[in-house]
Amino acid sequence: MSYNITLIPGDGIGPEIAEAARRVIDATGLDINWEMAEAGEAVIERYGTPLPEHVLESVKKNRVALKGPLTTPVGKGFRSVNVALRQKLNLYANVRPAKSLQGIVTRYRDVDLIVVRENTEDLYAGVEHLVGRDAAEGIKIITREASERVCRHAFDLARKQGRKKVTAVHKANILKLSDGLFLECARKVAEENPDIEFEDMIVDAMCMKLVQTPERYDVLVMPNLYGDIVSDLCAGLVGGLGVTPGANIGTEAAVFEPVHGSAPKHAGKNKVNPLAILLSGVMMLRHLGEDRAAGRIMGAVGAVLEAGESLTYDLGGTAGTSHMADAIIERL
Ligand code: NAD
Repeated sequence: MSYNITLIPGDGIGPEIAEAARRVIDATGLDINWEMAEAGEAVIERYGTPLPEHVLESVKKNRVALKGPLTTPVGKGFRSVNVALRQKLNLYANVRPAKSLQGIVTRYRDVDLIVVRENTEDLYAGVEHLVGRDAAEGIKIITREASERVCRHAFDLARKQGRKKVTAVHKANILKLSDGLFLECARKVAEENPDIEFEDMIVDAMCMKLVQTPERYDVLVMPNLYGDIVSDLCAGLVGGLGVTPGANIGTEAAVFEPVHGSAPKHAGKNKVNPLAILLSGVMMLRHLGEDRAAGRIMGAVGAVLEAGESLTYDLGGTAGTSHMADAIIERL
């Protein structure tokens, strides 16, 4: 079986981690034709946009992409390319597992969570305007369609992976209409799935509980902005942004990318951890049904982590991005 897969290297540290992940995945012997598609800051001058049409076309054609992070300027400049990509390809569910890995020592041992984040609306849609000169208004959009769809995805995922519980996270005590609608949808979908335990929790309480007793939680489903924040919190439980992968699942395509951003201060230094994007690649291989190759990569990653050598700075080592990838390839 051969595959055409779009590879979007991205900005900042993107190109170096994407290259590391590509080398490891290729070393499994799978026949992959990587279609390179550049997006982000670097292409604005060439194409007049950070998200050229041919990049979208490539993902639509191949239906699968592995993506590095893309920079979004703060407070000014172009809108988020990540948000545009998710909206244009209707990538409605952002699935971000946070699982303790053997060999990575943190304060927590048995974390095995999946954050399922609604990916197309909420405050994250970036619909805002100035009201006069001294006020600004941001609009939080929550729809029944998107809320039910992401909740269904969470329950389906729970069942597929043999998980026990779905927790809907919200702030419906304050945002009675918008988060109230999300919660109503979550409860409706829960009723359709009586085999899976369901509970709901207010987002601030959820954050405290995740820090205190993360092992009590399983699949978490929530609107976009809470998902953005809670998934970084969960990354912190298992070793940080350097080891936390993600998948954007949609009707037309699936785009796999790490939770972390483009970390510009580390760009070009061959320094950061390639695991987050590599584990996103492992999620991609499972999505393609290539479980054996995925398992082999996980075995090699486990062996490198256990050995405690060839680790990047965030895991207490001094190895570079490419060295860590080399060590994983050696263990394959
Ligand atoms: P960031 O995730 O890029 O980096 C925060 C810190 O986390 C880094 O300084 C570094 O210390 C650490 N880190 C991140 N990735 C790491 C890795 N692979 N290995 C080791 N350490 C790592 O967050 P930021 O600095 O807030 O954002 C930078 C840019 O990335 C912004 O423009 C933001 O909009 C963008 N961003 C993009 C995405 C995406 O493409 N999906 C996601 C988040 C942020």
